[in-house]
Amino acid sequence: MNKIVIAIDGYSACGKSTTAREVASVLGYTYIDSGAMYRAVTLYFHEHHVSLTNEKDVVGAIENIGIDFRVNKEAGRCDTYLNGMNVEKEIREMYISENVSQVSRIRAVREAMVNQQRKLGRKKGVVMDGRDIGTVVFPDAELKIFMLADIYVRSVRRQNELYERNQLVDLQEIRENLEKRDRIDTSREIGPLKQADDAVVLNTTFMTLEEQVDEVVNLALSKIVGKKEVSLGT
Ligand code: C5P
Repeated sequence: MNKIVIAIDGYSACGKSTTAREVASVLGYTYIDSGAMYRAVTLYFHEHHVSLTNEKDVVGAIENIGIDFRVNKEAGRCDTYLNGMNVEKEIREMYISENVSQVSRIRAVREAMVNQQRKLGRKKGVVMDGRDIGTVVFPDAELKIFMLADIYVRSVRRQNELYERNQLVDLQEIRENLEKRDRIDTSREIGPLKQADDAVVLNTTFMTLEEQVDEVVNLALSKIVGKKEVSLGT
């Protein structure tokens, strides 16, 4: 069967990751959480006291960063590894959320991550979620989704997610973090969060996870079936 690339972009905590993971599972595709990569870089910078304003330090640090994803059978997901260490728990902490948008606006960081993301998607059959996947990483993706949702709903969903990870965080603190990240992500110079012209908009405010997954899977199937095999004429 034809394999396609599915790019899911949108604001923080709209349900992108959960939907993308489920869609990948239904289609037998690989799910790649590009936000986890920026979070892992943020963790590395934090642990190694890298100054965000010192370009030489930033570039040097990036060269020492290796990120990969490995299956965690018990949790039924892929965990993020930073230089061989499982950092899945650390990268979801609030102090990472508070700093990640400052890190991800740095040109050298974006270039390194975008290169790696393109490599991960070159064989197609991937669902990648993030902010610039349909606009920068895979502008030719066969299916692009742009997700949005009401800020209150997003804050509650994120609070529940954190609670499931044993983190109790105040709703107002979460809301402020989401709004701040959205502001920085949409206004940065390189790879800002924005809707691709050919993206399908999905407002998830009143949608269940199941409905979101169904919607994206149906759109994907129509692309997969409609996609013509390209003959090289040999
Ligand atoms: O998806 P998640 O909320 O985990 O992403 C964390 C942060 O990583 C975002 O707020 C954004 O600053 C950055 N990011 C990005 N480009 C992507 C994915 C995430 O700049 N493709």
